Amino acid sequence: MGEGMKISDGKAVQIDYTLRNDKGAVLDSSEGRDPLAYLHGAGNIIPGLEAALTGKEPGDTLAVTIPAAEAYGEREDDLVTTVERALFPDPKQVQLGMRLRVQLEEGTRLATVSAMVGDKVTLDMNHPLAGETLHFDVEVMDVKDATPEEQAHGHAHGAHGHSH
Ligand code: ZN
Repeated sequence: MGEGMKISDGKAVQIDYTLRNDKGAVLDSSEGRDPLAYLHGAGNIIPGLEAALTGKEPGDTLAVTIPAAEAYGEREDDLVTTVERALFPDPKQVQLGMRLRVQLEEGTRLATVSAMVGDKVTLDMNHPLAGETLHFDVEVMDVKDATPEEQAHGHAHGAHGHSH
């Protein structure tokens, strides 16, 4: 079961985690779910968390604080734009907090409706966690060599395998 095996590149890792922001609010957690399975060294998880987990083994717990730059990046003002509500395919459906895909020259990007004033709609294309310092409490649940299939896919398949 990978007992005692340390986390390094090419390991399939399972972690339980709770993610909080600077205010202590829980943003995400594996509690009540299967542990998060990922392939170490493959960029499956944010760089700051991956770095902190290197060398850890099953049973290890760690509390990691990750600055925005090593998590989802700083907020960028030029990723916030205001457009006419009439430009939306279904203008009446536009609501505050709604998430939608925006077509840009370089491809599509996920945006959040962050303000609505009159006929103007403000779209924020920053990642919802951009600019946030993240605090993870993590317990390493399992570490094993990734299977050839997992390595080929570039991710871990976890306890139940997967279907794609
Ligand atoms: Zn796969």
